[in-house]
Amino acid sequence: MIYKIIYLCFIKNTMKKILANLLIIILISVFAVACGKKQQPMDLYDVIQQRGKIVVGVKDNVPPFSSKDKDGNYVGFEIDLAKKIAAKLLGDENAVEFVAVTPANRISMLNSGQADMIIATMTINTSRLAMVDFTEPYYIAGQTVMVKKSSKIKSLYDFKAKKIGVVFGTTANEAVRTVAPAALVAGFKTYDEAVDALRQGLVDGVAMDDTVLMGYKLKDPSLTSISQKYSQEPYGIALRKGTESTRVLEMLDGYISNSKSNGEMNKLKTKWVK
Ligand code: GLU
Repeated sequence: MIYKIIYLCFIKNTMKKILANLLIIILISVFAVACGKKQQPMDLYDVIQQRGKIVVGVKDNVPPFSSKDKDGNYVGFEIDLAKKIAAKLLGDENAVEFVAVTPANRISMLNSGQADMIIATMTINTSRLAMVDFTEPYYIAGQTVMVKKSSKIKSLYDFKAKKIGVVFGTTANEAVRTVAPAALVAGFKTYDEAVDALRQGLVDGVAMDDTVLMGYKLKDPSLTSISQKYSQEPYGIALRKGTESTRVLEMLDGYISNSKSNGEMNKLKTKWVK
């Protein structure tokens, strides 16, 4: 009899332990599933409405597209475009915060949530479309090579065994290897560094968009470009990829195509781009 009681107690304790362990396993599994489940990001339009402003990644050194004036205010064609978008989304063209981006960091700034959108002389191309979404183009630029006015280099063919500077993260980085395969390519972090290298004779040219060139030529008349424009660079507004951006993307596309057809975009362009 006593053995039977001991035996029953033993069974009861073992069952209790098994049940307790089972409960722990179930709780851990539920917790793991809950944590593993990806939170759906909030719709960008709602985020912007709640915040009451848009955060736009822009360049701070590409006049007349986007740069800072002597008081530190952002000015330029793309700045006005961002203000129009703030007016469209929030009814207030001043409801916009600008953050400075570079060609090399603009996609990561966007995808890490430090900006809602990028308006920064950014060409729409297939490799970028794998990482971000783009609106339809608001401007079509072309790529060329800046040279010194005193230079003997007049075309891409003259770059045989000569050095072309490119800025990391730009389309020029890939393009020059195709259009001037005999040239030696030197990479720089910024346009300012690349143009300084040109002035010092460390490179013979700097590949860049005609829009970027425009600003440098205005400041320094000793700079010019070869006559060829060897690529089209359609600029789009970049947004994070995915359904969170769809509503804003559609609104921006609507705004861009309307302002192209009603002449507003042209007015903006001629205000800044002479
Ligand atoms: N439009 C070119 C690009 O997107 C060059 C200018 C820039 O880097 O912003 O790469």
